[in-house]
Amino acid sequence: MASIEQVIRERMCSGCGACQFAAPDLFRMEENADGYLQANKISDAEEPAELRRICPFSGERLSETVIAERQWPDLPVNSQIGRHARSIVCHATDEKLRMAGGSGGLVTWIALELLRRGLVDGVLHVQPVSTHASTPAGRLFNYSVSTSAEEVRAGSKSRYYSVTLADVLTEIRSRPGRFAVIGVPCFITAARLLVEEGQIERDRVPYMIGLVCGHMKSRYFADYLAWQKGVTPGTLDGFDFRQKLLDRPASNYGFRLHTPDRDEVYPMKSVRGRDWGEGLFKLPACEYCDDVLAECADAAIGDAWLPGYVADPRGTNVAVIRHPDIVAIIAEEQGRSLHVEDVSVEAVIRSQRSGLRHRREGLAHRLARRAAEGLWIPEKRVSPALAKGRLRRRIYDLRLKIANESNAMFADAVKAGDLNVFEKRMDPILRDLRHATQGGYIKIMLRKGLQHYRRLRHRLGR
Ligand SMILES: Cc1cc2nc3c(=O)[nH]c(=O)nc-3n(C[C@H](O)[C@H](O)[C@H](O)COP(=O)(O)OP(=O)(O)OC[C@H]3O[C@@H](n4cnc5c(N)ncnc54)[C@H](O)[C@@H]3O)c2cc1C
Repeated sequence: MASIEQVIRERMCSGCGACQFAAPDLFRMEENADGYLQANKISDAEEPAELRRICPFSGERLSETVIAERQWPDLPVNSQIGRHARSIVCHATDEKLRMAGGSGGLVTWIALELLRRGLVDGVLHVQPVSTHASTPAGRLFNYSVSTSAEEVRAGSKSRYYSVTLADVLTEIRSRPGRFAVIGVPCFITAARLLVEEGQIERDRVPYMIGLVCGHMKSRYFADYLAWQKGVTPGTLDGFDFRQKLLDRPASNYGFRLHTPDRDEVYPMKSVRGRDWGEGLFKLPACEYCDDVLAECADAAIGDAWLPGYVADPRGTNVAVIRHPDIVAIIAEEQGRSLHVEDVSVEAVIRSQRSGLRHRREGLAHRLARRAAEGLWIPEKRVSPALAKGRLRRRIYDLRLKIANESNAMFADAVKAGDLNVFEKRMDPILRDLRHATQGGYIKIMLRKGLQHYRRLRHRLGR
């Protein structure tokens, strides 16, 4: 069983900050040279064994499956999306709210409803640093506590940027009221574990809203996109990772960069690093996570990457709802402030197919690789097993290499003041990944073609 120190050593810390919250004399969240926040042990004192139960990457804690079973014992369960009361695609009907959102604006819509109905007094979510003062210099986004509708709305949009819950959880300790927590799956798991372990009173955080998560990125992701447009790393003072471009499908979104003298929008198509399958700037910890649909969250919300929805540039959410209060609020507002359509569990799975595959088959493969090298194997809900097929194995190995190395390579390029330092080292790895992926597609197309040919021959009676 791994201690938190071991989790840090093995680069499996995602920066949630539960350890700093529970033991501030032992752990502190600090940004490392790879551009992401992770726990640091700041004392020689021994780490109490019970602390392991609050770290989402330690094997000694409750799994997402057990936490979800405790939360919603009567809900049906699916091995890919977890427990589910209602699966929907939707968007806010308030055009301003929808347009301000990363996808359809559902996360902000729920937060506003919880606030409006007096079910919470505030929301823990991620804000641009310019909207709240007390932030260390140089960071673009941090968690903060929003207590008004205006503040909640100002927090809209997806931030593909390393953050931590540590400070806001500490802040609400001395602040009366009930709070909704918004976060990526491992952060929601951490918050649930803190409740399970009695570190936070259950009724202080009555709602937890999860973002579907492919992976988290370091701060270098924004720097990389901006550097390609001539902005020196470290000089950004604002960034929008999900700028909606109204003349193209939702999946072809853009980004908006902001510096003291520039405010510009570019399509993601115009830059390298846009392919999430490559996993550039991914936190290495994300390679050892098996939760895509925030299985411990009261609602898990993502993008409806599905035919019929992706064409609308204004954005549409896919969501799995679990908490009965949120089910009721949606039912009440359906057709009014929220446009809702029910979809099957299979459709939700289809919308996140590649993320799920990477966190199931891909994770089993990575665990098997570690086992073969005699490395510590984190306890996960999939067992180690090498992927079937040479090309799949190659894809997972290359993605792991990219996650492990891209941040450090970028840091070297920043030091050298030359983006080519990064491109030159990254390009061969990305080229290999492209070849492996294309090889996979060609094999699939050939197999489909052969199946089609056989069916045709059969129909013609030959
Ligand atoms: C790192 C990351 C990876 C993601 N991967 C996927 C994916 O693979 N597939 C998919 O379908 N969707 C993914 N999403 C979710 C997607 O980008 C949208 O956030 C989601 O669809 C909600 O959109 P919305 O319009 O309802 O949210 P909005 O109304 O825009 O509200 C978003 C809320 O989330 C908060 N927030 C933003 N970033 C963070 C963060 N890093 N940590 C905690 N809170 C945050 C904001 O402060 C805001 O309150 C990811 C999101 C993140 C942050």
